[in-house]
Amino acid sequence: MRTVKVEEKLFQNRYLVDADNPHIRLKDPELCEKTCATKQCTVCCPAGCYTLEGQKVVLITDGCLECGTCRIICTTYRNVDWEYPRGGYGIQFKFG
Ligand code: SF4
Ligand code: SF4
Repeated sequence: MRTVKVEEKLFQNRYLVDADNPHIRLKDPELCEKTCATKQCTVCCPAGCYTLEGQKVVLITDGCLECGTCRIICTTYRNVDWEYPRGGYGIQFKFG
């Protein structure tokens, strides 16, 4: 049986970017940078939407899988403002 890497499966998906209208925002980016010691969002996102530049958390929602993990895992500060993309935008999953 042929094995398929997760990256290969993700590559099958299509994504329509809603320019200048990200569906997830950091409520207080400074809190992420200066107060949150663990920054778990930067390691839990399967699409790699959260990255670190030094201690600064950078969120780019392009490619977001809408899994909701970042919303759930920011338990201490609840600093993630999360909603689904507007109709027609965001991820289009291709199964199979
Ligand atoms: S886990 Fe929450 S508070 Fe911490 S860096 Fe990520 S979004 Fe910010
Ligand atoms: S919803 Fe999932 S894929 Fe999208 S940014 Fe959050 S953790 Fe990443």
